[in-house]
Amino acid sequence: MTQKTAATSITAPRDAGKQLALFRPLTILEWLPDETLYSLVARLHYLSGFRRESTTSNVLFGHPRAGLRHDFQHSVSEFERRTDGSLGSAEQILLSHTILPFFLCFSDREFSSDFIRSLADGYWDSSTLGRPFITGSTRGCNPLKACPACIKHDQETYGVAYWHRSHQFPGVWLCAVHDSLLMTVLASDSQSAKYKLRLPKMADLQGSSFETDSISMADGRRTFLRILRDSIHQATDDYSSLQVSSSSVVALFAIGAQEKGLTNSNGRLHIKRMGESYLDFISPIAGLTEFSEFLGHGDVTVSELARLLRGSPRRTHPLRYIFISLWLFGDFSTFRERLISRTTQHF
Ligand SMILES: [Zn+2]
Repeated sequence: MTQKTAATSITAPRDAGKQLALFRPLTILEWLPDETLYSLVARLHYLSGFRRESTTSNVLFGHPRAGLRHDFQHSVSEFERRTDGSLGSAEQILLSHTILPFFLCFSDREFSSDFIRSLADGYWDSSTLGRPFITGSTRGCNPLKACPACIKHDQETYGVAYWHRSHQFPGVWLCAVHDSLLMTVLASDSQSAKYKLRLPKMADLQGSSFETDSISMADGRRTFLRILRDSIHQATDDYSSLQVSSSSVVALFAIGAQEKGLTNSNGRLHIKRMGESYLDFISPIAGLTEFSEFLGHGDVTVSELARLLRGSPRRTHPLRYIFISLWLFGDFSTFRERLISRTTQHF
């Protein structure tokens, strides 16, 4: 009787839905500072208890592999829908939690919007967009990197070690917070390693070749790596102002080469002088495997550089542009300001 009275005395509020909305939806995960999308997906995978990574990817992205590459994910719009936008829009996620902005530098806005759309909405692979410089290899252009000091700090502060975006940009090998050398995931190019969700663990990491190299890190190498890191972070933080065609960049390089006295009286590049100057500039990092894909060796480096400075229509890796800008203009800020000034004059 009491139960009946109690049951009948309960009346459903007319605006029950509104009352429910008074409660914040339970958020299982939020972004950690400087976290990559891959890292968040890996954390979700461990929390979910799913045995297979493909199940986690399917649940989050509607595709068994879309969320598993550590450098680029695709079908991010589907991820946005399935997380109800609580982690940001697809575009916000791609621009703030992946290394995409690095690859938008020195490319025009049409290319950038195509690239963002293809990662947000569809299946993407390097051959579709002709991006030979973007690889999914764990030791290729985009190795998965972590800072030992950040791992310790994050475990103590957040209870979990995670992947920082600022470590992942190509060419960055020093942590901006601790100035320590980054470590990489033990190399494996197998398909299963390429599509594996993992969080940073010291046991899975190996030191870079810097640590075993005979050249001391105390010499110009560390300085070079610091300047390079800061330039790359500056470029990616402000990628939108660097969205200019590669022909504009090369035109400014030609002026820089002339100002540096690397041209003949007829204005053509003095190949020997140019090669000597560039090889001297990159000498602190020459021979390191971490940069071999971007620098080549000796004559190859010089002929590649000459081809690029003569305005080759082939797209090149943004890191090469950053090397050249530092070489010709001394620092990245100067180059960036001159590039922006030139491109705005043309409109
Ligand atoms: Zn660190």
